[in-house]
Amino acid sequence: MNIFIMGAPGSGKGTFSSRIKEEFNLNHISTGDIFRENISKGTELGLKAKAYSEKGLLVPDEITNKMVKDFLSTLEDKKNGYLLDGYPRTLDQAKAFEEMTAGTDLAVEKIVVMDVPFDELTRRITGRRTCKKCGAIYNIYSKPPKVAEVCDECQSPLTQRKDDNAESLKVRLDEYSKNTEPVIAYYEEKGMVSKVDASKPIDEIWPVLKEILKK
Ligand SMILES: [Zn+2]
Repeated sequence: MNIFIMGAPGSGKGTFSSRIKEEFNLNHISTGDIFRENISKGTELGLKAKAYSEKGLLVPDEITNKMVKDFLSTLEDKKNGYLLDGYPRTLDQAKAFEEMTAGTDLAVEKIVVMDVPFDELTRRITGRRTCKKCGAIYNIYSKPPKVAEVCDECQSPLTQRKDDNAESLKVRLDEYSKNTEPVIAYYEEKGMVSKVDASKPIDEIWPVLKEILKK
């Protein structure tokens, strides 16, 4: 079973990817892993990608596409397929990947979308606070500390990650709307998309997700 998992930042994609990987014995791969692997092994594509990112430029789709395909085809242990996370990011990537893999055992079969309304994502991300001293995690909306901005466990001041502010999040959500939502619409037209209501608690989402993937 070959799956793409998609979802906006804060949608729980990472958490569920690990569970899916375990349950269905899949290769879980993120494009970040593929980039790092190619760069550390010094492959031709890796060197090209590195040159772009060192200049602060986006790695062109054709390099990314080729890297993803090469990576998938060289997996020694194919297990039961792959779960690809963070790809395709654009409609062009989706179409190119489809062309490259059509009729092969690398063609994608299912698209899982972790669906959460943007206002809920905003609460999840901008509300996140952590204690640097003991590692405790809070959310000012859903799991507030007893005293505002102070850790319950060790009374240290809580901190917010730099990227968790409203402005940075808006940039990431805008990018998701602009680039990734058209990819989802493209696969929806082909009848390949299963949307999961990921605004619910994890324990309610997981059985639903499992059923979808077993079908
Ligand atoms: Zn603490």
